[in-house]
Amino acid sequence: MTKIGMGMMRLPLLDQNDQTSIDYEMVNEMVDAYMDAGFNHFDTAFVYHEGVGEPAFKKCVVDRYPRDAYKIATKLPLFVITEESQLEPLFAKQLEDCGVDYFDYYMLHNVSGFTENAWKNVDLYSFIERKKQEGKIRHIGLSTHGNSEFLEEILFEHPELEFVLLQINYLDWEDENIESRKCLEVARKYGKQVMIMEPYKGGFLADVPEDAEKLMKDYNPDRSIVSWAMRFVANLDVCVVLTGASTLEQVENNIEEFKNADPLNDEEMEILESVSQIINDNITVDCTKCRYCVDSCTEEIDIARLFDLYNKHKLLDIDQWTPHGNAYLNYSKLDGVGIASDCIECEACLEECPQKINIPEVLKDVAKTFETEIYGFTE
Ligand code: SF4
Ligand code: SF4
Repeated sequence: MTKIGMGMMRLPLLDQNDQTSIDYEMVNEMVDAYMDAGFNHFDTAFVYHEGVGEPAFKKCVVDRYPRDAYKIATKLPLFVITEESQLEPLFAKQLEDCGVDYFDYYMLHNVSGFTENAWKNVDLYSFIERKKQEGKIRHIGLSTHGNSEFLEEILFEHPELEFVLLQINYLDWEDENIESRKCLEVARKYGKQVMIMEPYKGGFLADVPEDAEKLMKDYNPDRSIVSWAMRFVANLDVCVVLTGASTLEQVENNIEEFKNADPLNDEEMEILESVSQIINDNITVDCTKCRYCVDSCTEEIDIARLFDLYNKHKLLDIDQWTPHGNAYLNYSKLDGVGIASDCIECEACLEECPQKINIPEVLKDVAKTFETEIYGFTE
């Protein structure tokens, strides 16, 4: 039966400019609300919140609940692995940071094809299998944003994998890059358990364009916009749907929506197809704010944040001052950050982006949009 999981990728922050400044008091409340609702699956990763994601999980869950009260899923950061000798100490650190003796689920993080060059001489699959045999991992798997052909190749070659974490939501269902539907079919063909990430596509599906919202509200004014996204994934017969939350209210809403997620009927499915069309016509940059690209940028450009501002500005469809442009101006004044025009087109970020966004090209548009006289930028 499908459960809802608590993704710990976008935890609340005390300082929005510092990904490590986690608001632990708020996270404790979020964890308690989630556990009180009868759920127990937490998902973190070595790289979340610039390395403090796993310690945050320890602080807010492990130090406050008995080991049999929760399940923990975390991930091996492929992007930092170049040699076999890194694996043991890194894994030991992850166990220590999380404060556990074993992981319930452990996966290779974002196997995408891009990351493979770095670790092609390191046998990661044998490593995680060995850790499973040693009792340090209960179930091994991988997360991927690769397409269905890529997934099939891996699952064919690695029958030892037990589960996959896939990006699935109604917008990506038939998307030709993400291929949610086809990936799910491949996973099922190989008998793998499936976990779902990005059911709201990084928040896009909670805040759809007006025309799309109208279609949904005209059909059923009592349903929230996110309920459509939740109902779509909650009825796919997978083991876990991960929802990331940054506030207690979001956790409570996620639980509520999940509990009321009755299946969509044919008419509602048709509405979702139209909604997808409208969103696709309106989204400027398909960024899910996963932040994988951010660490790779030597110019300290907070790519995820700038794309978010850019998308929100574009949705307004005006060439005038917007609060998003003003937020860009405020961002530009922070110490130690790069703005869009600081991009040197080194392309280091390109391989990190699961959504395959041409980041340097988009940054040129971001600079053109925001770095103007309207916001006080001069030539
Ligand atoms: S291409 Fe631009 S945004 Fe990407 S890593 Fe290089 S400087 Fe940063
Ligand atoms: S640009 Fe790509 S890698 Fe960077 S935050 Fe957006 S989706 Fe993630």
